[in-house]
Amino acid sequence: MKTLDEVASSLQGYDPQALRADKALAFLQTLVTPVAQTEQVELKAALGRVLAADVVSPIDVPAHDNSAMDGFALRGALLKDGQALSLQIAGTALAGKAWSTPIGDHQCLKIMTGAVMPPGLDTVVPQELTQVQGDTVTIPAGVLRQGDNRRFRGEDLCQGKPALLGGSTIGPAALGLLASLGIPSVEVRRPLRVAFFSTGDEILSLGEPPREGAVYDSNRYTLFGLLKRMGVEVMDMGVVRDDPVALELAFTTAAAQADAIITSGGVSVGEADHTKSVMRKLAGGENGVAFWKIAMRPGRPMAVGRIGKAVLFGLPGNPVAVMVTFLAFVHPALRQMMGAQTASQPMLKARSTEAIRKKPGRTEYQRAIVTTAADGSLQVRTTGQQGSGVLSSMVAANGLLVLHHDQGNVAVGDEVDMLMFDGAI
Ligand code: AMP
Ligand code: MG
Repeated sequence: MKTLDEVASSLQGYDPQALRADKALAFLQTLVTPVAQTEQVELKAALGRVLAADVVSPIDVPAHDNSAMDGFALRGALLKDGQALSLQIAGTALAGKAWSTPIGDHQCLKIMTGAVMPPGLDTVVPQELTQVQGDTVTIPAGVLRQGDNRRFRGEDLCQGKPALLGGSTIGPAALGLLASLGIPSVEVRRPLRVAFFSTGDEILSLGEPPREGAVYDSNRYTLFGLLKRMGVEVMDMGVVRDDPVALELAFTTAAAQADAIITSGGVSVGEADHTKSVMRKLAGGENGVAFWKIAMRPGRPMAVGRIGKAVLFGLPGNPVAVMVTFLAFVHPALRQMMGAQTASQPMLKARSTEAIRKKPGRTEYQRAIVTTAADGSLQVRTTGQQGSGVLSSMVAANGLLVLHHDQGNVAVGDEVDMLMFDGAI
């Protein structure tokens, strides 16, 4: 496990007071390590989990050469350019049953999709290309080549070769693939445990009566949703009041039980509350926690460090900034802690339907809506109002339009990067 200092010194241009967003992400990806423990789970329970090691195929898939079509299996060598071919039908090969009777020189076999190719036959003509009269089938000239419509043994997966790689997340296709190999259970990394709480005396929990100057806690609900979608175990610790004893208890409880702690609020510059000083104390001083000013909008302040063995993500209080910093930094870092190989989500390119002002020197994340244009290409417009407290525009958006650090103004029709919510939230 690397210390904050080790990570910082390995990164060129690391400046906690004016940190590029890409440097912040690089820092986190060097800081965190995958959970080591694994467990064996039955196949259906493995959905969404991360494979601990490669799964080696115990068999060839398919196990035999077989037909890709309903039709007639024949010797491809009989096909002659420019000539029709007539063959006698010797019988029918059904899926799941091997054909064992010898086939004569000018005979063929009616065959069903998936049926094992009879010995000596290497080509299948689809039924709809043929004419059948009595027990004779005629294949017109030029519709078939030798080897057509035959699937080879091991074409999908070879015995002894990795079928799935360690670090892959098991989705519906992987579940099916594992089942096709006859594998009833797999070894996956244990689930990540993430504790989270909100800080600030102005934050109300649901059920409390409204009070002047107070706001209902929305961050715990967005964080709950974001974390649940990732398949981690969540520990919702509520709202912690701005009191050193209460904060210390919350942090030590979280650190004892969770792999990561996410807080919101109390990390901005000039905060009068105790969150930062308690973080500093429990992390063992400046070496255990860094208070960042990230060159980004929204979401400038963020605390990162370790309390005990738990990784600490101190997010800003602003509801939109919480979601943006989560998607930009926490999501990829947690994916890495889960042992996942592809930590970052791919971005889409879409054409901007509007001009956007942007100064180089910071990364901006605008709430935006991607739609399909009349010509089939992707186009994007922002949701307008980008105030960092406005969750309604986050709801209206289907992704974040990312304007990179060095990028300048965007003109109408320019291609921009989109980080889509689908998959992440
Ligand atoms: P802070 O980062 O603590 O200065 O908070 C910035 C803004 O976010 C303030 O307007 C807070 O009231 C608001 N805020 C902080 N925590 C939450 C929360 N859990 N839910 C909703 N708004 C919050
Ligand atoms: Mg505050």
